[in-house]
Amino acid sequence: MNKPIATPSRTKEILAKHDMFAKKNYGQNFLVDAGVVEKIARDAMVSDHCVAIEIGPGIGALTQYLCEYAKKVISFEIDERLPSVLADTLSEYDNFTLVMEDFLNIDLKSYVEQYTAQGYDVVIAANLPYYITTPILFKIFESNAPVSAITVMMQKEVADRFHASVNTKEYNALSIVTQYRCHVKNVMKVPKNVFMPKPNVDSAVLQFTFKEKDASINEEAFFELVKGCFKQRRKTILNNFGEYLGDKTKAKEVLQHAGVDEKRRAESLTIDEFKHLYEVCIHEN
Ligand code: SAM
Repeated sequence: MNKPIATPSRTKEILAKHDMFAKKNYGQNFLVDAGVVEKIARDAMVSDHCVAIEIGPGIGALTQYLCEYAKKVISFEIDERLPSVLADTLSEYDNFTLVMEDFLNIDLKSYVEQYTAQGYDVVIAANLPYYITTPILFKIFESNAPVSAITVMMQKEVADRFHASVNTKEYNALSIVTQYRCHVKNVMKVPKNVFMPKPNVDSAVLQFTFKEKDASINEEAFFELVKGCFKQRRKTILNNFGEYLGDKTKAKEVLQHAGVDEKRRAESLTIDEFKHLYEVCIHEN
């Protein structure tokens, strides 16, 4: 491998050579710590037979390591200044493909199935553009694409909500919707000083792997119920659930049958309790 791209001096050199600067509106904070980049790339590979999909290669800091470890790397980017930079920084790799498309608009399932059909594990890895972390993750979650693992860096505050436990201030509808679908592993915390430019907040790397689907649950309806129960955090479950059903008497009855004390708040209910509440609710309607 050539010199790592993810160092302060090399990043400055590449930016100067290509007359580039980081664009804030594209969420560009380049990683300048090779140790962090290497760990993300290594942890992203769930087997030695992986194709990696990357969101936002930037100048290639993480891509370089993905190319070392994966059979093939497909990176999606929207900044038109970057193809010529990447052609330079990743010139030593013939397993790299750049696709100039907004990740939010691609047909992810087709991309993934193209490689799973050939027997590869497809993984997703990225230092995400922070302004669209949640839309990107939900696009992946909702795509039904057979992805083996999603290993991504995001703002620590957002990461804390994705893997929050019950009865904490971070636990909300997003935590439940995510943990209903995925196992969430905290890979590492990352301080803000390993980025150029330096963001205002620390980051964290999480890894998501899909759980088996529960065929008895209509996900859309279940998620609506969960969101309804969290609508006003300080209200009791009875008040929020009553508003969601549009019938407080019915809500009282369902809660009683589900064995949930009406004075509790949504943040105290585990995912299994929410599932049970959903099942009782469906059964009684
Ligand atoms: N991977 C590089 C690194 O770690 O240094 C750059 C990460 S930077 C936080 C995010 C990258 O995502 C930028 O290169 C940005 O241009 C790109 N990006 C922003 N929005 C995007 C989108 N909708 N689809 C694809 N790439 C996007």
